[in-house]
Amino acid sequence: LYPTKDLQARDAAHHIHPFTDTGALSREGSRIITHAEGVWLTDSDGNRYLDGMAGLWCSQVGHGRKEIVEAVHAQMSELDYYNTFFKTTHPPAIELAEKLAELTPPQFNRVFFVGSGSEANDTVFRMVRTYWDLMGEGERKVIIGRWNGYHGSTLAGTSLGGMKAMHSQGDLPVPGVHHIAQPYWFGEGGDMSPDEFGLWAARELERAIEEIGPEKVGAFIAEPVQGAGGVIIPPDTYWPEISRIVKKYNILLVADEVICGFGRLGTWFGSEYYGIEPDLMPIAKGLSSGYLPIGGVMVSDRVANAFIERGGEFFHGYTYSGHPACCAAAIANLEIMQREKLVERVASDIGPYLQAKWKALAEHPLVGEARMVGLVGALELVPAKGDRRKAFAPVGEVGTLCRDISFNNGLVMRAVRDSMIISPPLVLSHDEADILVERTQKTLDDTYQALKR
Ligand code: PLP
Repeated sequence: LYPTKDLQARDAAHHIHPFTDTGALSREGSRIITHAEGVWLTDSDGNRYLDGMAGLWCSQVGHGRKEIVEAVHAQMSELDYYNTFFKTTHPPAIELAEKLAELTPPQFNRVFFVGSGSEANDTVFRMVRTYWDLMGEGERKVIIGRWNGYHGSTLAGTSLGGMKAMHSQGDLPVPGVHHIAQPYWFGEGGDMSPDEFGLWAARELERAIEEIGPEKVGAFIAEPVQGAGGVIIPPDTYWPEISRIVKKYNILLVADEVICGFGRLGTWFGSEYYGIEPDLMPIAKGLSSGYLPIGGVMVSDRVANAFIERGGEFFHGYTYSGHPACCAAAIANLEIMQREKLVERVASDIGPYLQAKWKALAEHPLVGEARMVGLVGALELVPAKGDRRKAFAPVGEVGTLCRDISFNNGLVMRAVRDSMIISPPLVLSHDEADILVERTQKTLDDTYQALKR
């Protein structure tokens, strides 16, 4: 075992953590994860947790896969690093780009490599505006995103995203970004049926375009299912209506696939699940199952052709765009996903199995709604069962309490406001799914008891 207290003190003295209250961390100490295997995490005190969040929604093939480690080792021994700038490349970047062209929908034949989802959305931001410049419609600068959308933490990612707490730090969004409502029926649907609300939320896009002026709007960006915003699964009417509107106004559709991509919904990409045809597709996370940092923007022929036929140099790129070791990790990861048919498994085996059990948690007195698509789900915790208009006050305290209880019960869940989120590795077995649901049930019971006291 590890000297936990000593490690915590050193951590608090020298490390500012992302999305963390630094003051609280210094008082309480961090949780130190030392090992991971399959869907299981071990901390410095030897406690084991089921990784219900697949790390940060990324660990598709599970932890500790030797095949990926060996692929990275072999690549680093051969070529540790070289860049992809100035007409240079290397075999792993070529192989991965080709593989992505095969796996993604037919309009995508090219990828721009980056190091993360945030960098992917930075790239999207500049690519959209550059595309319209090249097309001679440079006034189309506005990009429309959604409230509570999450597109990363860089200036562009934060701006495109709709997290008000993030906007308030750093005076964001940057100019030229507009946000519309999210298709969050449980929280915001009022008296409308889910289908009516789905149409209403989609038509917010049309209203925004008309208000801003269609000649000024360049793109709409959205996650097929909003992840960090609380696993917002849109009503069936939503995406068809969005598709109609983006076509009508000829604006680019950007589907942020950083969470939904690579099998999370039981299709390779969330766009396929909803039958939408994006022009740009940011990807990251599941691309390498988190083994090494890598992301990309899938660029459709529509956009790529503008760059090829009309563009000069695109003045954009990162030192680690297409890093050879990261590409090798991604290739090995995708090979495992294909060989073990993990996407099909989510669609027709473990997905439906877990969904049935998860949705049955809606019976619990603390749960207002239990939703799940593929292997990503949420439980809405409510103070008054049967009344989805009543929320806990202040918002978020019960969710945080429930998340901490869940950790103590050996399950990692995430809290978004007062909903509990899971997004487990795609290799989750049936037995592990049972454990996940049992521990969730116990966590709900314990939280319910704690609130009564
Ligand atoms: N886009 C979406 C939909 C995400 O969920 C995330 C991260 O959670 C990002 C972008 C940012 O990715 P990264 O944290 O790799 O920068």
